[in-house]
Amino acid sequence: MQTIDISPCTLDERCEALRAEVRAFIAEHIGKYSPAIRARNWAGGDPEWSRMMGERGWIGMTWPKRYGGHERSSLERYVVLEEMLSAGAPVGAHWIADRQSAPLLMRYSPDVLAPRIVPEIVKGSTYFCIGMSEPDSGSDLASIRTRASKIDGGWVINGSKLWTSGAHYAKYMIALVRTEAKSDNRHAGMSQFLIDMNTPGVTHRPIRNMIGDHDFNEVFLENVEVPDENLIGNPGDGWHQVTAELSFERSGPERYLSCSQLLFEMLDAAETSDPRHRVELGRLTARYATMRQMSLGVAGMLHRGENPSLPASVVKDLGALLEQGMPDIAHDLFGGRITPDSSLDQVLAYLAQANVSFSMRGGTREILRGIIARGLGLR
Ligand SMILES: Cc1cc2nc3c(=O)[nH]c(=O)nc-3n(C[C@H](O)[C@H](O)[C@H](O)COP(=O)(O)OP(=O)(O)OC[C@H]3O[C@@H](n4cnc5c(N)ncnc54)[C@H](O)[C@@H]3O)c2cc1C
Repeated sequence: MQTIDISPCTLDERCEALRAEVRAFIAEHIGKYSPAIRARNWAGGDPEWSRMMGERGWIGMTWPKRYGGHERSSLERYVVLEEMLSAGAPVGAHWIADRQSAPLLMRYSPDVLAPRIVPEIVKGSTYFCIGMSEPDSGSDLASIRTRASKIDGGWVINGSKLWTSGAHYAKYMIALVRTEAKSDNRHAGMSQFLIDMNTPGVTHRPIRNMIGDHDFNEVFLENVEVPDENLIGNPGDGWHQVTAELSFERSGPERYLSCSQLLFEMLDAAETSDPRHRVELGRLTARYATMRQMSLGVAGMLHRGENPSLPASVVKDLGALLEQGMPDIAHDLFGGRITPDSSLDQVLAYLAQANVSFSMRGGTREILRGIIARGLGLR
C-alpha cells in the first residue's frame, strides 16, 4: 500500500500577508450581501464579485503568465479560497472555470484552446459548466450516452446532460461524450469537448431545487456542431482526463467550508454562560480545526505535485458529515428562540435544506468511500 503524507503544510509569511490583504478586501465589499446570500457561499455567485477578484489577480493565481495567470504558489491560492469561503463571498460564477476547466484546457489543449480562452477566465468574466452527469448516468459515469460523431472538419454532438450547475450563465461547457460505441472496456471510447453554450442546438431548462433556487439545469444537445479544435486532448482519452478533473473538483477547502456562515452565526448567538453552548460549539470548532489541518495536508500534496485523490475523498466525506450535522446542532441549541428573519434564521433556513446535496455534488458518499476503501487496499 502506498504511503501518503498528509501532515498539514506550513503557510509562509507571503501567505499570511496575502491573507491580511484578502480580509481587508472582504471587509470592504461583503457588507452589501445579506446573510442569506452569504449562506449560499460558493453555490452563489455575483459576476461583479468575480470581476473584482479578477482585477485583484485572485483568479488563475497559479497559472503561467502566458495564459494571463499570476504564477503564485498553490498555497497562496489556498489562502484566498479559505478566506473567501469563510466569509461566504459570492464566488460561484467563476468557481468551476478557476478550479477545473482552465487547468484542464492548459493541460490538454495548451496551444489551441487555452491561449484563446484562459485569459478571459483570469479576468473573472468567462464562466464554465461541467457536462458529466446525464439522465441515468451519475455515479456510473461510464454509462453516458451522449455521442459525438465525426464530420468533415469537426464533430456533431447529440444527447443531454443533467444537474448542470450554472449552465444558464456559463459561456462554455466541457462535456464528456462517447466518440466510439461501448466495448468490453467500459472506460474506453469517451472524449471531452469544449462546447460554446451559444452554439445552435444547445438549449437548457432550469431545475429548481427544493429551496426554490435555480442553480442547476437540464442541457439538451441536438446536432451541435463543434470544430475539430474543440476536442480536448486525444479522442478516447476522456475517462482518464475526467478522472484527473474530478480530483481537482474534490480537493479544495470548499468541501468543508460551505457552512462556515452558520458556525459564525451560532458563535454570535451563543451565551457564554450556557454550558451546553460552550460544550457543543467548542466541540464543533474543534472539528473545524481538525478539518482544516487535513485540508492543509491535501493542499501540501497539491503543492508538492502529488495526487491527493485519496485524502481529498476523506476530507470531502468528513466535511459533508460535519456540515450536514450542523443544522441539528443549531436547532438543538437555539430552536424556539431564533428571531424570525434574523441572520441566524436566514442562514439556518437555507442550510437545513441545502446541505442534503453536499454528499451528492462532486461524487456521492458511497462512491467516495469506495475510493477510500480501494486506497486502503480493502477492495
Ligand atoms: C448540487 C449539485 C450540483 C451538481 N452539479 C453538477 C454539474 O455541474 N455537472 C454534473 O455533471 N453533475 C452535477 N451534479 C450531479 C452529481 O455529480 C450526481 O448527482 C452524482 O454524481 C450522483 O449521481 P446521481 O444523482 O445520478 O445518483 P446515482 O448515481 O443514481 O446514486 C443514487 C444513490 O446510489 C448510490 N450508489 C450509486 N452507485 C453506487 C455504488 N456503485 N455503490 C454504492 N452506492 C452507489 C449513490 O451513492 C447514491 O446514494 C450535481 C449534483 C448536485 C447535488
